[in-house]
Amino acid sequence: MNKAANTKRRQLVVGNWKMNGNQRKNADLLASIVAGWQGEHRADVVVCPPTVYLQQTRDCISGSPIILGAQNVNQHEAGAFTGEVSAQMLADLDCKFVIIGHNERRRLQGETDEQVAQKFMAAQRGKLIPILCVGESLAQRENGQQLQVIERQLQAVFSHTGLEVFEHAVIAYEPVWAVGTGKTATPEQALEVHSFIRNQLGKAAETVRILYGGSVKAHNAQQLFALADIDGALLGGASLDAEEFLKICKAAD
Ligand code: PEP
Repeated sequence: MNKAANTKRRQLVVGNWKMNGNQRKNADLLASIVAGWQGEHRADVVVCPPTVYLQQTRDCISGSPIILGAQNVNQHEAGAFTGEVSAQMLADLDCKFVIIGHNERRRLQGETDEQVAQKFMAAQRGKLIPILCVGESLAQRENGQQLQVIERQLQAVFSHTGLEVFEHAVIAYEPVWAVGTGKTATPEQALEVHSFIRNQLGKAAETVRILYGGSVKAHNAQQLFALADIDGALLGGASLDAEEFLKICKAAD
């Protein structure tokens, strides 16, 4: 299902490999994805491998329409930040996108809203397109606080950048309780948040792509992509299986 005819936005599917893979598995996975995604498409497809495999991935997807993305970036440009990677370094490896504020980084690495905002700005300074992840926990959803939480997470970035910069960004709504759990938000739950996000964005609302993430699989992708305000998906588990991944990309195309 493609909505290109009635929106100005190309659908976008982003695979976040997280901390998975090795050179042999990556080569096999990427060869299958490249073979299944040749030529012209109406949807954009991005793969985000672990940082150490960016170069391998770049080489494997070279000449295909698949786009390279990264999973994280440091907010500084250079200097004494052991183990970190800057936006300029990612751009130097031909990355076009970078995931910012994934819930695993917020929860497990303690990234604050303020750090997420700094990383968002660093990504744009480095000419990368940030994919800003927002989403509520199960407790927040059960207390009916999802919109408040999303508003706070967005506001942390808007308050520094203004809204215009979202013309060059992607937002991913990922309810924390749906990520890696096999539970997917219902269409109503996803739509409520997606249209809330779009309504916060002023003029950028027309062009910004808002992805849904949280246990998207081949069997539920079509239904999600058919919904107005859902412009594609951020995938975890499904991005590690070429067949599943390609089915989802095709559903977006
Ligand atoms: C994610 O990690 O961004 C994600 C959506 O994971 P999964 O698809 O496995 O729920």
